[in-house]
Amino acid sequence: MSQSDVLQETQGQSTQAQNGKIAVLYIAGSGRSGTTLLARLLGEVEGFVNIGEAARYLFDVNIRARDFPCGCGSALSSCSFWKDKIRAIPANLVQQASELVRIRKFPSLLMASGHSGNPEAYRPVLDALAEMYRAVARETGCRVIVDSSKNPANALLASLIPEVELHVLHVVRNPHRVVASWAKKKGYLKAHPRRKVIAWWWSFNLLSEALKLRARSYRLLRYEDFVREPEKRMQEITADVVGTAPAMPFLNGTEARVQLQHDLGGNPDKLGGGRINIVDTSDSAGGSRNWLVNLTTFPLLLRYQYLPSHRS
Ligand SMILES: [Zn+2]
Repeated sequence: MSQSDVLQETQGQSTQAQNGKIAVLYIAGSGRSGTTLLARLLGEVEGFVNIGEAARYLFDVNIRARDFPCGCGSALSSCSFWKDKIRAIPANLVQQASELVRIRKFPSLLMASGHSGNPEAYRPVLDALAEMYRAVARETGCRVIVDSSKNPANALLASLIPEVELHVLHVVRNPHRVVASWAKKKGYLKAHPRRKVIAWWWSFNLLSEALKLRARSYRLLRYEDFVREPEKRMQEITADVVGTAPAMPFLNGTEARVQLQHDLGGNPDKLGGGRINIVDTSDSAGGSRNWLVNLTTFPLLLRYQYLPSHRS
């Protein structure tokens, strides 16, 4: 039995049609863990629409300033899908939301989302986020919105919206490969130093596990397990949300065909549609740095079965 099977916790399935809520499948985890690819594939499932890192992108003043293109290739100000939704979010709310989702604010946000908390303090941001999801659901007629914003704090905000039914897919990847991936500039994404990447890997993964407290379903998926059996894992993920595994004619072994999607943020691989090879690289930090990565990511390495004694 794989770890993703062991840690999968589902508290019941339903659909938008059955309970009137908007089903949001939120992909959480650290950057360069394969979340953009997973979101694009999920966006090909009938009834699912991938909006990329919309919750994070639209409500973060720093990311907005970098003006990454939409997955359709257009600037956001001219993308037919996003331009009106962006205009509907006032600048002061973007600033307020940017403060709310800082990782250091996560504990207070988690308490606010509990029974004794006061989410009313966040109401304007929650209303704007809810309206974004509502507009996507209305315009696409989708059954499930796939949001790959990764930051667990944005998922907590989504969980505070009464009409959102939150499902969490937590994706982890071997930190050696994450560190190696961030060491290189990739299109419009800058390279980042190892110490920063390890801090992100730790905090985003640890805090993503706290989302079990607020989500309708939670699944932990190692990217390496996904690459080994893409269709099986996709079936498990979609069944968590809609109760059954829809057909996936766009997948053939480790090859897939994707259409053009209006997904925000993410890595530049998202641009355009076409054929995708589902692979993992064998990159690692290398040399003595491997020891440092092992030392600084233990014991999560043990928890996610990435120690050398485990297959990955
Ligand atoms: Zn677009």
